[in-house]
Amino acid sequence: MNIARRTLLQHSARCRSCNGRIVWARTADGERMPVDDTPARGGNVLLMLQGVQLVAGVLGKADATRRRAGGIELYVPHFATCPNADRHRRR
Ligand SMILES: [Zn+2]
Repeated sequence: MNIARRTLLQHSARCRSCNGRIVWARTADGERMPVDDTPARGGNVLLMLQGVQLVAGVLGKADATRRRAGGIELYVPHFATCPNADRHRRR
């Protein structure tokens, strides 16, 4: 099931370097990851809601293709689209 637009808006934030619209989600590793807030054709991130926490599942290529074929909306990590992606890297 696709995540509700309303849910994403509740988690909406702005990228600090490019001011793009993002949502913060937690990965399986427990890390916070910025994700573009609109579904993308080439996306590989599945957003889910666990309680009030937005969770990001990063899919492999085959899995992502299969999900998209099944009508599941996928997203892209903001690292992939941010014009200032270098500044996101950890020092
Ligand atoms: Zn950005």
